[in-house]
Amino acid sequence: MHNYTRDVRKAVSDALFFKSCILCANRADSRAVCPSCEKLLDEERLRFPVTDLKVGGGRKIKCASLYKYDSYGDIMTRLLYFIKQEYDKDAFDFAAKKFSYPLSYLNLPENTVIINVPRNAENYGKYGFDQSAEFAKRAKYYCGKKFIYSNLLKRKKGAKEQKKLDSENRKINVHGKIGIKRIKLAFLTRKLKALKIDKPFIVIADDMITTGASIAECESVIRTAFPSAEIFAASLARND
Ligand SMILES: [Zn+2]
Repeated sequence: MHNYTRDVRKAVSDALFFKSCILCANRADSRAVCPSCEKLLDEERLRFPVTDLKVGGGRKIKCASLYKYDSYGDIMTRLLYFIKQEYDKDAFDFAAKKFSYPLSYLNLPENTVIINVPRNAENYGKYGFDQSAEFAKRAKYYCGKKFIYSNLLKRKKGAKEQKKLDSENRKINVHGKIGIKRIKLAFLTRKLKALKIDKPFIVIADDMITTGASIAECESVIRTAFPSAEIFAASLARND
């Protein structure tokens, strides 16, 4: 999956002071993704971006995504792979701009809260950032609406990497493995109170949704903290 030739080309071209495309390594000037790769990405857009996602307690939440994700080795994989492994400000801006589309499909009111699915502790330690947090917190600048970003959730230590597990084990793996950061909860509660919001709209943000197990776990934790909230999910990509 890893293309070293492309990575070397990218490193060389970045060193020559022009930005290269994170997907094809061709010259992209100030952009993270060149126009032809962006066009290829746009061909991967979902025909039906909004769907119902089953969460705990027989509940369903509305889930909006931009791209379909159904195979390895395609341009979508490359994008997700890049933002997981590299801290690139322009790439996160690009992802944030794209993430503003699924957000807009949900017709959210002002002061909707965006909360990212937290990255597991192992990968956070390895890469030093949380890719969903990075584009989720930037997304509000592209939505034309006042959104509140909150890094409310944490993944408890010992949770295995989801992609290595099958569907049933994914559910077991996340169960009880996502918790709330007390300080962030106090901060968010104060903020909502100051805005006189008792029924907050909350969107759970992730880079990719496969089984929805992580979303379901986040939903249940958020639901406990904010029982009256309207909860949604949004992602860059989703299994079609
Ligand atoms: Zn390109």
